[in-house]
Amino acid sequence: MVLWLCDLQTLKGRFHTMLAVQSELISAIRSIPDYPKPGIVFRDITTLLGNPRSFRRAIDELVHPYAGTKVDKIAGIEARGFILGGAIAHQLSAGFVPIRKKGKLPHETVRIAYSLEYGVDEMEMHEDAIAPGEKVILVDDLIATGGTAEGATKLLQQMGADIVAACFIIDLPELGGRKKLEALGVKVRTLIEFEGH
Ligand code: AMP
Repeated sequence: MVLWLCDLQTLKGRFHTMLAVQSELISAIRSIPDYPKPGIVFRDITTLLGNPRSFRRAIDELVHPYAGTKVDKIAGIEARGFILGGAIAHQLSAGFVPIRKKGKLPHETVRIAYSLEYGVDEMEMHEDAIAPGEKVILVDDLIATGGTAEGATKLLQQMGADIVAACFIIDLPELGGRKKLEALGVKVRTLIEFEGH
């Protein structure tokens, strides 16, 4: 009974810490209405990155479940995924792999088309960036419709990567991106949610 009460207290403590972290991250992000077009609220993480405390907090929270586990590579999606992914790779002593818009990488690449809100685009990674069976975490700042992360996931799976998880600071749950990745068998970790687009 005493033990059970202690567990309950610990759980309560963790829950309050989680809420405090979430509210710190939410207030560190700048929301810009009608950018880049009417109806979209742009979630600008440059204010979070510019604040030493919230930047560290976001990285610590993203890394937390994987600390001490084997992760070979962090794959970051251009461009904000590079900033977060580099810091996460450092924390986990993993390598970093950039996933870029087509035509930016200098060596032989593998490429995949992915859907945007209007139309399609292509992304690439170096053909030798991941060896089959390597444990990889995919990173970007935000998941919305999931088209971008779905493309990156398929590219990594095509290379034989064992995707441990896909991590994002922000989820826009109404747009259903998380479900797209889960349908591909990928665990999704996000820290905070915003309503709408
Ligand atoms: P999606 O492919 O729809 O999941 O869009 C995700 C990509 O677009 C990520 O690289 C995000 O950085 C960017 N993005 C989409 N919607 C927003 C938004 N409301 N605010 C900031 N970035 C966004």
